[in-house]
Amino acid sequence: MKERIRLAQGDLTKFLVDAIVNAANSSLLGGGGVDGAIHRAAGPELLIECRALGGCETGDAKITRGYSLPARHVIHTVGPIYRGGHSGESQKLSRCYRRCFEVAAENGLKSLAFPSISTGAYGYPINEACQIALKTSLEQLKRFPEMERAIFVCFSGRDLMIYAKQLAEL
Ligand code: ADP
Repeated sequence: MKERIRLAQGDLTKFLVDAIVNAANSSLLGGGGVDGAIHRAAGPELLIECRALGGCETGDAKITRGYSLPARHVIHTVGPIYRGGHSGESQKLSRCYRRCFEVAAENGLKSLAFPSISTGAYGYPINEACQIALKTSLEQLKRFPEMERAIFVCFSGRDLMIYAKQLAEL
């Protein structure tokens, strides 16, 4: 399963995959961080489609087109805000990754690129979040053999080192 995982460093909005995953907020009306970057790169039509979706619950995911992005689709998921780790954050974060794979499979998509969900403004510690991201994604790759590739796009070199170390240990 690991051979279907790739790690990369850079700007998620540049990736040519069937869908990039947005770490959105529950309004789906845009925000800072990777969400802002995706809306800027996709253009104003993305916000128009997002408005019609009526928001998204934490741990769930919804799909739109990618508009001016190289990626054909965006899967918007809402990660948990980290509040110390005893408020069901790990289950919610795991559910984000699972739901992204489910939505991708429902739409016949074969490649996904993820940011490190919840580890920016939402404050999730990167080591814990990375472990959940990789473990859950491996389970989902097993579940969906037609999914060819999951790419984890780290923004910083430090994040990439953490992902690489944890992937090697899995
Ligand atoms: P959240 O609110 O879920 O924490 P953020 O967007 O604040 O979402 O941060 C999630 C992760 O996305 C962080 O690791 C942040 O450094 C990273 N990030 C921000 N912009 C980009 C980008 N253009 N491409 C990839 N990752 C990005």
